[in-house]
Amino acid sequence: MKTLNSIEEDMPLSFPSHCLSSREDTSSDKFHDECAVFGIYGHTEAANLTYLGLYAQQHRGQEGSGIVASDGQQFYQHKGLGLVADIFSQPVLKRLSGTRAIGHNRYSTAGNSTINNVQPLTVNFAFGNLALSHNGNLINAPMLRGELEAYGAIFQSDSDSEVMIHLIAHSKADTLLDRVIDALSLVRGAFSLVILTDEGLIAARDPYGFRPLCLGQYKGSWMVSSETCAFDLIGAEFLREIEPGELMVFNKSGIKSYYPFVAKHPALCIFEYVYFARPDSKIFGANSVYAIRKAFGRQLAKECPANADMVIPVPDSGVPAALGYAEGLGIPFEIGLTRNHYVGRTFIEPEQAIRHFGVKLKHNAITEILEGKRVVVVDDSLVRGTTSRKIVKMIRHAGAREIHVRISSPPTIAPCFYGIDTPTQKELVASHLTIEEIRRYLTADSLGYLSLEGMLAMAPNQSDSYCHACFSEQYPISFTKAEQLQLGLFDSTQHSHVSSPVADSVAEKKITVIE
Ligand code: SF4
Repeated sequence: MKTLNSIEEDMPLSFPSHCLSSREDTSSDKFHDECAVFGIYGHTEAANLTYLGLYAQQHRGQEGSGIVASDGQQFYQHKGLGLVADIFSQPVLKRLSGTRAIGHNRYSTAGNSTINNVQPLTVNFAFGNLALSHNGNLINAPMLRGELEAYGAIFQSDSDSEVMIHLIAHSKADTLLDRVIDALSLVRGAFSLVILTDEGLIAARDPYGFRPLCLGQYKGSWMVSSETCAFDLIGAEFLREIEPGELMVFNKSGIKSYYPFVAKHPALCIFEYVYFARPDSKIFGANSVYAIRKAFGRQLAKECPANADMVIPVPDSGVPAALGYAEGLGIPFEIGLTRNHYVGRTFIEPEQAIRHFGVKLKHNAITEILEGKRVVVVDDSLVRGTTSRKIVKMIRHAGAREIHVRISSPPTIAPCFYGIDTPTQKELVASHLTIEEIRRYLTADSLGYLSLEGMLAMAPNQSDSYCHACFSEQYPISFTKAEQLQLGLFDSTQHSHVSSPVADSVAEKKITVIE
C-alpha cells in the first residue's frame, strides 16, 4: 500500500518569545529573499543531494526547510524550523530513502512561521502521494482558497502554496499531469515549483518567469534548482533554465517538456540581480550574478560620481557593486566595514540597559581606514533607510570627513506581490521622500541611486523582459479589485515588521499595470 511515512519533526514549533529575531533587529532594512526549491530524479543518494542543494541555497530562506524522498511506493519526509544544517542529520537523511526527492527552504512571504507552513507540502489523494515545493507568491490565492473552502477543502497551513495542492485534488481531469496543468492554469502570480509524485517529478515555471528555475544533470540523474550555485556544490552540470511557461516531467520514460499555459510577456525579477541570488549563480541568462552587480556599480559611477578617497561596500551584498563603482571612478576599494557572519537567526535578548546594539550586531567600522577620509559607501538597495542611517553614523563616528552614499539600484517605491517579503509602501522611505530628503535623513553628504534605465541597460536580456515593479510601480500582472483588498495593496498593517520614523505622511499611490 502506498503511504506517507512522516519522520518525527523534532524542531521547535515556533521561536521562543525571549528570542529576538535577527530579521527584526539586524537585517530588517532589506527586501527579503523568498524561497529555494530543489528536486532530483534518478539517484540513489537523492536525499543527500537534496540536502546539499538546500544547503547551497540557504540565503533564499532561513525560516525552515524540508525534504520529501520517494522510492516509488512510499514518501519519506522530514521538516523543521531553522537552518538546513540544524534540521538534517546523517541518520535523518538515511531514513529519507529513494531515488527521487524534492526540498524547500522557506522564508515566509505568505503565512506564519509554523512547522505547518514548512514545505514540501504533502498529500495523499486519489492519484497517490504528492509533495510540492513552491517559490513565488500567488496573487489570487486568498480568493481561490475561499472558493475551495466553500467546497469543503480543509487547509493544513496558511501558505498560499497549499492552494495549488487543493486545486490539483479538485480537478476533474483524468491524469495527474492534466490535473497539475489545470491547477496551475487557474493560479495567477509567481511560481517556480517542483512536484514529487509516485511516478516521478514535475517542474514548472509560471509564464512570466518571475523567479528562476534551473535544470541540471548529475551522473545520469536530473536536477531542478532555483539557483545554479546548488549544482556547483554538488558538481552537477547546469544544462539550461526551465523557460517561463514551461512544465517538465521526469519519470522512468525520460524527460518531457510541455508549454501548456497561455504565453505571457516575460517579467523576470530584476531584484534577483540586485540582491536575492547568490553572486556565483547564473540566472536569467547571466554569466554570473556577480558580473551584473559589478556592472551596476560601474554604471552607478557614471551616473553619480563622487570626489572621494575611497569606496567601501556595505558587506556583503554591496561588495560587487562597490568594486564596479571603484573601478569606474579609478579610486581605491577598501573594506571600511566588517560584518559578523555569525549573527544567527535568533539573538538572546539581554538586559534592557545594554540592549540597543542596533546595527552594531552585524556591522562594525574600521577606524584606521576611515579616519579623515572622504568615503563613498555603496549598498545594493535602500528600503526603509533605518539601517543605512545607522551605518552612516557609524562611519562618521569612526572619523570619516565626508560620506557619500551610493545605491546600486533605483529607489524602492512599491511593495512586491510575487514572492518577496517587502514592507508596506508606507514604510518604503523612497515612496514619500525625495532623494534630498532621504539624504538629510541618512545624514550623508550626498546620495545617489542607479537609474532604472541604467540598471536595465546593464542586465543581459531585453529591458522589457524584466519585472521592476518595486522601482516603477508597473506591475506585470493586473489586480482585480478583490485581489487589491486581499493583498492589502494600500494597507499599512500588512507585511509590517518595523516602522520607518519618516513614513507618516505618505499618500496612497496609484498602481500601474503593464500586461
Ligand atoms: Fe522582483 Fe521587485 Fe518585481 Fe517583486 S516587484 S518580482 S522584487 S522586481
